[in-house]
Amino acid sequence: MVVILLGPPGVGKGTQGAFLAEDLGWVRIATGDLLRSARREGTALGKKAEEYMDAGELVPDDLIVALVRETLEGLDTDTGVLLDGFPRTVPQAIALEEMLPEVDRAVDAVLLLEAPDDVLMKRISGRRSCPESGRIYNVYFDPPKVEGICDDSGRPLLHREDDRPETVERRLEVYSELTEPLVDHYDASSTPVLRIQGDGELDEVRAAIRRALATELGVEVGSR
Ligand code: AMP
Repeated sequence: MVVILLGPPGVGKGTQGAFLAEDLGWVRIATGDLLRSARREGTALGKKAEEYMDAGELVPDDLIVALVRETLEGLDTDTGVLLDGFPRTVPQAIALEEMLPEVDRAVDAVLLLEAPDDVLMKRISGRRSCPESGRIYNVYFDPPKVEGICDDSGRPLLHREDDRPETVERRLEVYSELTEPLVDHYDASSTPVLRIQGDGELDEVRAAIRRALATELGVEVGSR
């Protein structure tokens, strides 16, 4: 199965996507995470992506499509896939539709997480993450026990360059200009779009996602 996780920056795609991939035993392909690790490793892709990411702009479609294709080709076809942060433009969605049959797959559903802009701003500006454990915190809603330090790894937490307020506004604009049209694209297709309110408590949102997948796709999501 392939499920696309769609939603604005800060809505909780990363957190909910990680829960869901763990609950289902699926592979989560998070293009933002892949790009950040390419940057840390200093690869050619990382270097090309840097400037776009720090400005809150999207990385060109061809680079992202090649990255996703390569990742999908490396997976067993019976592994479920959760796409987090891809596609983000209509051309990327079309490229995905062309690529999936080649790897014996099709999109089963789009999970659309929604929240008002003011909630998104607070979620993003308060977000901190641990480079080692990958755990995500929020200084307002879910702080670590010791300020600035990961509870699990003891390492200092990072504030993403593109989570700074100047860039966040641009990322929200880019979402409404380039990514929101994907909702119409999928609404007009036969792929079901499951709408979830993403501004509740983490556990409520997690439960709403489980219910939607069980009702709409017959996927029983249990904690593993
Ligand atoms: P994210 O962690 O998903 O918020 O992604 C962080 C940044 O990576 C975005 O602001 C973009 O610059 C870039 N990025 C991630 N996924 C994509 C994509 N599918 N298309 C273009 N750029 C992307």
